[in-house]
Amino acid sequence: MVDVEGPSAGRSRSLWETLRLLPKIDLHRHLEGSLRLSTLAEVAQAHGVDLPSYNIEDLRPYVQVTDEEPNFHAFLEKFRFLRRFYSTREAIERVAYEAVADAAADNVRYLELRFSPATLAAHQGFDLEEVTDWVVWAVEQAGRDFGVTTGLIVTIKRELSAAEAERVAHVAFARAGRGIVGLDIAGDEVNFHLAPFRDILRQAHREGLGLTIHAGEATGAWSVREAVEEYGADRIGHGVRAVEDPKVVELLRRAGVTLEICPTSNIHTATVPHLARHPLRHFLAQDVRVTINTDDPSISNTTLTDEYLIAVREIGVSLPQLGVVVWNGIRAAFAGQEVKQPLWKAFKGEWEKILAISLPDALEAERLR
Ligand SMILES: [Zn+2]
Repeated sequence: MVDVEGPSAGRSRSLWETLRLLPKIDLHRHLEGSLRLSTLAEVAQAHGVDLPSYNIEDLRPYVQVTDEEPNFHAFLEKFRFLRRFYSTREAIERVAYEAVADAAADNVRYLELRFSPATLAAHQGFDLEEVTDWVVWAVEQAGRDFGVTTGLIVTIKRELSAAEAERVAHVAFARAGRGIVGLDIAGDEVNFHLAPFRDILRQAHREGLGLTIHAGEATGAWSVREAVEEYGADRIGHGVRAVEDPKVVELLRRAGVTLEICPTSNIHTATVPHLARHPLRHFLAQDVRVTINTDDPSISNTTLTDEYLIAVREIGVSLPQLGVVVWNGIRAAFAGQEVKQPLWKAFKGEWEKILAISLPDALEAERLR
């Protein structure tokens, strides 16, 4: 996404390289948006998946946002195209493993990867529990191989019926603390509401899972308020449109709810018209806990380093503020203090050394709510 080869390459490259060196945390990354194009082509050829082409460049416009007009529904359409690749156990394990490998190559040290078991299972009629265990296994293996602390979040698409969602939620509940750390609601927030999922969302905390809900992306600030007040979300996926109502911004600050901001994705879904008008800095100034994440690295052709560079160069976040963003990320991770404390100690040490900034010592025990 970011042109590091352009006329100002000298300066940009050095900042990009610096940001790449920093240990990073990604709390909002979809497995289904992380598939390498080269893997897609190989899987398709090996298993006879019918495609318009097996050439990576020809495939690109089907799975990546290229030069079309930004549009939320066109963005979701990319995921529909990708479903046909979840054709075998090996393909699913491979894409899960590679998603962690790619994060590690970007120096992401803590990754919460989210996936929709119903989506992965649907194409070939796989068993929900089996498909979930394949992803858990592959991500654990990759985490060990590449030195990334990982947690998986189970996504429930809003398009599912209440009964289907309940089945998926129970697969997640049964694996709480054994690979699965949270529950997520994603999908078409314009046409599908949260009400059918009320019971399972209430149950998530009792089962020991964190709860994050995509809101305030395609719909307004009211959806963020609803996710927090009525459904108990710990974190909000995007939530950028909270900025439309100062009372909702104040609610987020007071409640200590964390926003998972994904700048490039916000442009690709037309949630934000220009990066210069992204509300990230406003949220920081209002003491809202914001984090910076990738959402869908493959679909948006981005890395977390690219997103940090965008935050600094295009949105105007200072390097000390970026340090606070990372501190927020560790505070909001769906992990215990035994994971977070040593992680923050290591992050703080490296960030302060590389950027010559000063960051908070402590992580408070729990969120205020
Ligand atoms: Zn998302």
